Amino acid sequence: MNEPFETGARVVILTGAGISAESGIRTFRASDGLWEDHRIEDVATPFAWMRDPELVWGFYQGRRRQLLEVVPNPAHEALVELEKFLGDNFLLITQNVDDLHSRAGSKNLIHMHGELQKLRCEQCGEVVVAMDEEHLTDDYVACTACGDERLRPHIVWFHEMPLHMREIDQAVADCDVFIAIGTSGHVYPAAGLLGIAQACGAHCIGINLDPPENVALFDEFHQGKAGELLPNLVNVWIGVEEE
Ligand code: NAD
Ligand code: ZN
Repeated sequence: MNEPFETGARVVILTGAGISAESGIRTFRASDGLWEDHRIEDVATPFAWMRDPELVWGFYQGRRRQLLEVVPNPAHEALVELEKFLGDNFLLITQNVDDLHSRAGSKNLIHMHGELQKLRCEQCGEVVVAMDEEHLTDDYVACTACGDERLRPHIVWFHEMPLHMREIDQAVADCDVFIAIGTSGHVYPAAGLLGIAQACGAHCIGINLDPPENVALFDEFHQGKAGELLPNLVNVWIGVEEE
């Protein structure tokens, strides 16, 4: 559909690690199933946290410190332009735990897999943004609300339930256009949103470096780097200029 969106079209975007790749944050499935040289089972499950909290904490502290060194790329910025055009008809759902969408300026944004800047208390449920220097060392951070000595990353690990699923399912079922960007289609339930959108009659667009697992479900697939493709596509969608 290389043409402008219809007036009033409700657009839902799902992004994955691929949209942040050009900012210098590594994806994890693409090459070898490792994430920054770790097996997912060793760093991104509740069992790993129980078995070896030091390893998991150290891993996420590394990811959290990295946020200070990266900046949004043209793909994040293009989605901000799209939101300015669509207003309330735009919803961005990200699987990413980095903060590059919000730093670029996206507003109507759901982090379904949590956020690196935040920590959570397993005892009292307190969620805090903790990005000061003293929160970014390899020492644990204590809960100031209940005194528990070890907050955990506010991240949805494998085997845990993603956040805001009811709102997400509803928005995807109700949208007219669904666009998945930089996501491998391996990680459920996020990967299942494309099937919901398709079943509910949305026009489904994919943008990815490699064809993802569920590529056959897209009505339209654009292969390449998000930072190179998306600025032009957004211009077409909002009717600014030709590709
Ligand atoms: P993934 O790592 O499984 O897949 C990334 C996909 O992006 C791949 O299909 C790859 O071909 C594609 N890709 C790579 N570079 C690209 C580019 N420049 N433009 C477009 N596409 C590109 O990622 P996923 O599907 O998001 O699932 C991984 C899970 O890991 C998520 O739950 C996420 O929370 C977590 N994760 C997050 C980050 C982050 O926050 N930046 C980074 C790694 C992993
Ligand atoms: Zn607490």
